[in-house]
Amino acid sequence: MTFNELDLNPAILKALSLENYTSPTPIQEEAIPAALAGRDVLGCAQTGTGKTAAFSLPIIQLLSKQPAITSGKRRIRSLILTPTRELALQIYENIQAYSKFTGIRSTAIVGGVSQKAQERALSQGADILIATPGRLIDLIAQKHVDLQYVQILVLDEADRMLDMGFIHDVKRIIAKMPSKKQTLFFSATMPSEISQLIKTLLVNPVKIEI
Ligand code: AMP
Repeated sequence: MTFNELDLNPAILKALSLENYTSPTPIQEEAIPAALAGRDVLGCAQTGTGKTAAFSLPIIQLLSKQPAITSGKRRIRSLILTPTRELALQIYENIQAYSKFTGIRSTAIVGGVSQKAQERALSQGADILIATPGRLIDLIAQKHVDLQYVQILVLDEADRMLDMGFIHDVKRIIAKMPSKKQTLFFSATMPSEISQLIKTLLVNPVKIEI
């Protein structure tokens, strides 16, 4: 299979060819059509499978089909939550590469660095926000982040967020978003707290096991 057959738009295909991606990985073959069709996705997959592009490419395509929401500034239409700073920055870099011909703007929020630069980036607006839960909670409390326009949520490595003690923060963040949204949920294992969250969050998901 080729990326052309996944109905991705020419701006994304051009970026993928610059990255030297020739064909989709198995998780991409399954997740991209499901997400483009607006379905919720439950993916059981590890890092290294091409999971990042599996959720990022449909988000970029779905958001670039609609005008940015700009009441004053761009509003966050997609939130990607991931457990660590390294993963967040990796996802951000990938999304920058995949979206560079689309006009989609993204920004990353992680702990352990000065908050000021992140506040400035947020004040300029973004379509996609990639974040670790702790710093995001702080910025929401300080009204630097508004999640009421979020249409697509990604929970990446949900089981690791649970292990790291972020599950409560994740639930508080989810409560700040509209309940009607598309959710792409990835977890390598499914402990009971994760199964509970899946039950409350996902509607008739397409299940993918790699
Ligand atoms: P991930 O599992 O998302 O961390 O991706 C693992 C690595 O595979 C990253 O370096 C990606 O840039 C790369 N990658 C993802 N999808 C593809 C693809 N379809 N073809 C070639 N490389 C890919």
